[in-house]
Amino acid sequence: MGTEHNIFSIVQQQLDEAAAILELDHATHQMLRQPQRELHVSLPVRMDDGSTKVFSGYRVQYNDARGPAKGGLRFHPDETIDTVRALAAWMTWKTAVVNVPLGGGKGGVVCSPKELSPAELERLSRAYVRQVGRIIGPSKDVPAPDVYTNPQVMAWMMDELSAMRGYNEFGAITGKPIPIGGSAGRSDATARGGMYTVREAASVLGISLAGGTAAIQGYGNAGSFAHKLAEELLGLRVVAVSDSSGGVFSDKGIGVESASEHKQTFGSVAGLPNTSPITNESLLELDVDVLIPAALESVITSSNAGSIKASIVAELANGPTTPSADKILHDKGTYLIPDLLCNAGGVTVSYFEMVQNSYGYYWSEDMVHERLDAKITDAFHQVHNASKEYGVNHRVAAYLVSVSRVAEAMRLRGWVS
Ligand code: GLU
Repeated sequence: MGTEHNIFSIVQQQLDEAAAILELDHATHQMLRQPQRELHVSLPVRMDDGSTKVFSGYRVQYNDARGPAKGGLRFHPDETIDTVRALAAWMTWKTAVVNVPLGGGKGGVVCSPKELSPAELERLSRAYVRQVGRIIGPSKDVPAPDVYTNPQVMAWMMDELSAMRGYNEFGAITGKPIPIGGSAGRSDATARGGMYTVREAASVLGISLAGGTAAIQGYGNAGSFAHKLAEELLGLRVVAVSDSSGGVFSDKGIGVESASEHKQTFGSVAGLPNTSPITNESLLELDVDVLIPAALESVITSSNAGSIKASIVAELANGPTTPSADKILHDKGTYLIPDLLCNAGGVTVSYFEMVQNSYGYYWSEDMVHERLDAKITDAFHQVHNASKEYGVNHRVAAYLVSVSRVAEAMRLRGWVS
């Protein structure tokens, strides 16, 4: 795998660039280039046919100088320790950029969730917690949903951990269903935060988005809610959507209800009536106002960045753009809203969920939206201003804001001088 696509080396390159501008001392820089600690686990799971399969899993606590490690858990066949490290590092920068008192972590299990029955998925989730439970908890490390994990998986994990502890450990896992300690507004929080950043980007660019167009790659939790909220909050017409099985295009706009229903019934948005098929690659190159990559990492690279036509690229996925693509987009004047900021709504509401769990008092959905908007809008302008002040692209600017906060916390704690 070349370094353009090895996401842990991408994270290190991004950090190195920020470290040079911030003139970080060697020890601080070295601490931030590697995870603080990681756990590798083997998970024996009884399958429905009576056999036992052993899955590999990881939890990486990248940095907890600013607070407990925080970040999702992915179930994915291509998961590797390096992807988990990279994603854990991104969580460290993400919690710092929105200034919530948390560090960064991530977990992963190498598996094909689509091939597992619900009962197998439950046994796998519980097996993961039996191993990783020793290093997680509200003041240590708090997992949440990510690619191919959801509130039901969080519910099983919280239940297993509570059984291990002997009391309800609600605050150890976020993204739970609302009746068992979840927060109002958590399910669409990633997409909602992203749409707030698109709204702010349009405002600094002095453009109006109402009646404009958008294309969304990925139709999981982030992508499908982005479809709904791009219409509802920004008045955008979503002309193309896709998932791992293919995509669809319609100049008239794609209805969120029909696309979601189709996905629910057939497992994909591909084949949606009254649309034409489009590949994931061509979706990225559509002439739209807003492009929303909401699937996996490294989809915008040096090979296709020159063909991206959108004025705003809103990174709801983690790591969709490689560093060489970043430069190409910046040079042609694309307004890129980096993942750290664009998809930070999820972890922001996860933080709200932890706060509500700890004092056992729950907020209304309106209050969550209002507080999320305040956090994200503030972070957006800090990054936008840092980009102007230092004359760097928005991703580097987001790193400058977040890395300096993490470095300061490490210095104040006496880890580095
Ligand atoms: N998995 C989400 C992310 O990458 C949310 C993490 C969380 O809520 O802790 O930001």
